[in-house]
Amino acid sequence: AAKDAGRGRFHFYAADLHSDAEERRQLEEDLRDAITQGNLELYYQPVVQTATERITGFEALLRWNHPQHGFISPAKFVPIAEDAGLIVSIGEWALRTACQDLAQWPDDVRVAVNVSPLQFANPALPSMVTSALASAGVMPDRLELEITESVFLGDDTGTEAMFRALKGIGVRLALDDFGTGYSSLGYLKRAPFDKIKIDQSFVRGATQPGSRNGAIIASIVSLAEALGMETTAEGVETLDELDLVRMLGCSHVQGYIYERPLSAPATQTRLATGLMAIARGPRSARAAR
Ligand code: C2E
Ligand code: MG
Ligand code: MG
Ligand code: MG
Repeated sequence: AAKDAGRGRFHFYAADLHSDAEERRQLEEDLRDAITQGNLELYYQPVVQTATERITGFEALLRWNHPQHGFISPAKFVPIAEDAGLIVSIGEWALRTACQDLAQWPDDVRVAVNVSPLQFANPALPSMVTSALASAGVMPDRLELEITESVFLGDDTGTEAMFRALKGIGVRLALDDFGTGYSSLGYLKRAPFDKIKIDQSFVRGATQPGSRNGAIIASIVSLAEALGMETTAEGVETLDELDLVRMLGCSHVQGYIYERPLSAPATQTRLATGLMAIARGPRSARAAR
């Protein structure tokens, strides 16, 4: 019986592998169409300054509305886009669209755009960034590029030259998902980040008794402060988590406790109605439930 079960599992597994590969290939094809047919959208999640509880900016997050399957998460399609090299054109579209949307927002609000390691390795990135800023007519310091630790796996000279070129343009740089990758303190010394984004895996569970996450967050914050960098705690969902990351000194917070990512029109409405400060009351209670 054990052997049968084993065989059964194997067949099941093999079938899964097959359909996974098939599904990926199909999604890759559909993704090419998504770019040209306008099925990609950017949503914007508020980034809130802890001291003032004001929105200082928004992170642009890709959304794909697939004609048959409906909404597909970027956690699923961004890796496919990376493997297929499509992330370079998708990334350019995202950067240009985010800058165009930013141009409609108040001057003291920023936008953060995620940049894939593949884009970061592309020598054309700085001129593309310059062109996106210029055609939207926005100041470079209103744009923040989020990159992950994996860019440091590439060639050192290229990486350092890219950092210099981007800082030369005057855009801000944020280190995304800090603590999840190949964390080395060496590159914090070399790379001119303006902000460290503390990955939500550290926030999650930080309020549980005996958790070491709070100690880790506190040391990232003191490291960042010593280096003159801001910190954003990602994925803050509950009031307890919000209170904790505030107490630990994170300068900014992003998470469902304040707001989920909003469509561009909803972002526009939020800003136009002057609701810059976010009320913690009812919204917090709702999110904490
Ligand atoms: P990320 O850059 O770390 O973005 C933060 C993710 O956390 C977003 O997921 C956001 O919706 C989610 N999030 C925010 N607050 C909370 C919370 O309180 N709780 C929970 N559970 N999640 C929260 P999303 O939008 O699904 O994006 C996933 C990832 O896809 C992003 O992670 C980023 O790595 C990638 N991505 C999204 N848009 C782009 C893009 O334009 N370019 C590239 N290269 N990657 C992108
Ligand atoms: Mg990000
Ligand atoms: Mg992140
Ligand atoms: Mg992430």
